Amino acid sequence: MIPVNAPRLGARELEYVTECLQTGWISSQGRFIEAFEKAWATYCGVAHGVAVSNGTAALEIAVKCLQFPPGSEIILPTFTFISCALAVLYAGHVPVLVDANPRTWGIDVTQIEAKITSRTRAIMPVHIYGHPVDVDPIRELARQYELVIIEDAAEAHGALYKGQRCGGLGDLGCFSFFANKLISTGEGGMVVTPKAEYAERLRALRNLGSHPERRFLHTELGHNFRLTNLQAALGLAQLEGIESALAHKRWLGAAYAKRLSVLPGLQLLGEEAWATPVCWMFCLVLDDKLGLDATELARRLAARGVMTRPFFLGMHQQPALRARGLFQGERYPVAERLARQGLYLPSGLTLTASQQEQVCDAVEAELQPLATRYL
Ligand SMILES: *Cc1c(COP(=O)(O)O)cnc(C)c1O
Repeated sequence: MIPVNAPRLGARELEYVTECLQTGWISSQGRFIEAFEKAWATYCGVAHGVAVSNGTAALEIAVKCLQFPPGSEIILPTFTFISCALAVLYAGHVPVLVDANPRTWGIDVTQIEAKITSRTRAIMPVHIYGHPVDVDPIRELARQYELVIIEDAAEAHGALYKGQRCGGLGDLGCFSFFANKLISTGEGGMVVTPKAEYAERLRALRNLGSHPERRFLHTELGHNFRLTNLQAALGLAQLEGIESALAHKRWLGAAYAKRLSVLPGLQLLGEEAWATPVCWMFCLVLDDKLGLDATELARRLAARGVMTRPFFLGMHQQPALRARGLFQGERYPVAERLARQGLYLPSGLTLTASQQEQVCDAVEAELQPLATRYL
């Protein structure tokens, strides 16, 4: 079975992790944590980085550090990972959803303003599957209505919006370094921010609300969301190799597009003029006319030795959230269609050209016979 994803680990990773083991700095102090924070923040064009234990934790403390009044509303896309909604709920706020853009699958910026109320405090754009959201209209709304922008750039490491790094476009940028992300520390995450006062609060929230100088003095209710030096060592090594990882993704995206764009009934992720996306995962959305949904294609590809992953299921379709009385009667047709018709193909950093050919052969074998539906 050709896996959907696999991290690429090399000599530099081994060297840095070995240094942790040999020096005994394996926990949440040591030189790699600050080095990784600084290097990642700099890469994103932002002054401060606060490393945390995972991307969900990054979102959670990013929202909490803003200290909005209880019941404040935060606008986010329905088509995203559940961590975004959890971060809003755990801070005592209300998630307000917007449908996906049918071309780029990120939040539909034209539908945001209609969702703004007197309780709205923030907007959370998510750069879905590596394609940047059109952030300028969001910045304009944020200025007009005095809102904070919290980006989720977990899937867009290295992507650019009008030449600026995703994650560094708003007030707070959140990253995950989970195993399937471009840069991985196994589990891990980071919040980047241009604001020193946010960075200071994020550091306290990550470490049990601890006072920066007086040990065992706690100034607020925090969490243990610390990253270890071992993980940061991995992260720094990965970051030093990011150009080659990005080059692999560019090759992969172009090679897939070349073979698959000629097949009937497939929508591939568009590339808007403002965007330099990264092909985090190579995604397909099946046309309804094919008479084949993503679940069925996934089953058939698995039988041909190709692993896939389905698209997100919208937040408004999540039992865990609906059980709390959220999103009753709300419909988001673009997100619902993406959830039904979308999947992604093996896109890992260790995928070889011949494996990639095998994947294309399998997709072609399933879709080519359906071409008659388009005559
Ligand atoms: C992976 C991911 C997260 C969560 O990251 P974890 O490290 O798994 O907690 C959040 N948002 C998006 C869009 C993601 O893809």
